[in-house]
Amino acid sequence: MRKLILSALSFLIINIMPIARSQARTAPAPDDRFKADILVIVAHPDDETAVTGYLARAIFDEHKRIAIIFGTRGNSGGNAAGAEQAGALGAEREIEGRRAVGEFGITNVWFLNGPDTPGQDVLRSLETWNHGTALDQTVRLVRLTQPEVIMTWLPDYVAGENHGDHQAAGVIATEAFDFAGDPTAFPEQVAAPRDANNIGNLTEGLHPWQPKKLYYFSDASQTDFLANQGPKYSTEDISPAKKEPYYLLAANEMKYHLTQDDTGQMAVKAIANGSFSYFRQPVLLVLGKSLVPGSLTGDVLEGITGERLAFAPSPGFRPPTRNGVSIELGGPWGFYKQFWQVHGLDRLAKLLPNAETTLIPGEKIFLPIWVHNDTGSDTQVAISTTLPEGWSELNGAGTLLVHAQETFPLYITARAPHQERKEASTIVVHATANGNAIGEIPVKVYLSPGALPQ
Ligand SMILES: [Zn+2]
Repeated sequence: MRKLILSALSFLIINIMPIARSQARTAPAPDDRFKADILVIVAHPDDETAVTGYLARAIFDEHKRIAIIFGTRGNSGGNAAGAEQAGALGAEREIEGRRAVGEFGITNVWFLNGPDTPGQDVLRSLETWNHGTALDQTVRLVRLTQPEVIMTWLPDYVAGENHGDHQAAGVIATEAFDFAGDPTAFPEQVAAPRDANNIGNLTEGLHPWQPKKLYYFSDASQTDFLANQGPKYSTEDISPAKKEPYYLLAANEMKYHLTQDDTGQMAVKAIANGSFSYFRQPVLLVLGKSLVPGSLTGDVLEGITGERLAFAPSPGFRPPTRNGVSIELGGPWGFYKQFWQVHGLDRLAKLLPNAETTLIPGEKIFLPIWVHNDTGSDTQVAISTTLPEGWSELNGAGTLLVHAQETFPLYITARAPHQERKEASTIVVHATANGNAIGEIPVKVYLSPGALPQ
């Protein structure tokens, strides 16, 4: 009997199981043509030039796969190549962007539908981009490209270009880094299609994906605060594969952005004159966070093994602990303070501890102030400002009645003098409640005609 069972078993193992195995269906695999080692998420065609001095190394010498998302088509700004403006300019800049990154062999390039929004306030760019739609699209592309590393603009308010669209790209990229691995975020993207071989599939068949490292770069005019916050790449090194310095490879990539005076036209001139001082600057990166072992200033791909990571939840929102009546800088500054905490980016909170901005001479500044009353009774709060010489106060100062447990969102507006100033000056906002000083907020302001509207 035992013999019979054994022979039946061996018949099963030898004859039936291999057949069963060969007939077993496997799940469809992600399309490897779209896999990226590094996904670059920026706002405008030509923003990628901030890191091409590094990307040349990753692509040509380390054979890494790069994909790019542009949040807008760059439909604002002067056209240094022709008469086209607005939508037509965006159509041109999409092609310039594709040609430029095509120089580096990058073909996995997507454009979101954000309008180019000149200004420095990230919240205004997030509004015009339609934040939810842009995030939905970006999370989809993170799941499609399965990047090991995401590289994007620094989500912070800096003195310098401080483009609100750049910051919006950084905010959305950070959110996508944290959401793409969560199957409940945009769940329709990770649901299996009902019948992949048929029409009418309304779910996408992607998989949750947890990227491993998040790096930032900045458009600040002073870059001292970025030193030693991440790796620094020389652009003077010679590419072993191309036998040319990385700065020259970067200039050759930039030269396609001909509608843009300060990138494409500048690159054409630099190549013609052989004067590459701009391109010889190193590429400075800031490590936002890493889920793999490695050092702060180590290589971008240090610690990357190709192994799939489990979802790493970010800390999430924790209401701040406050007492009494208090004031703080609100708007984009207040948002970032919360955003860094939510996304586990404590290091960013220490980069620029004091608020600063750059303003066009003669323009208005908008200082968003949050007046918090965390007591149990309504309180009168007096707001005043100390303005530097030549500034005129326009609105916002005075007495407010702030109800118990309420935050009063206030804008202080003032007009800057018409003359450009090399040195920064400081505006101070003061507040008193019941005759007692409850706080003051200093904001350092640079005046430069090249600044974006604040
Ligand atoms: Zn830009």
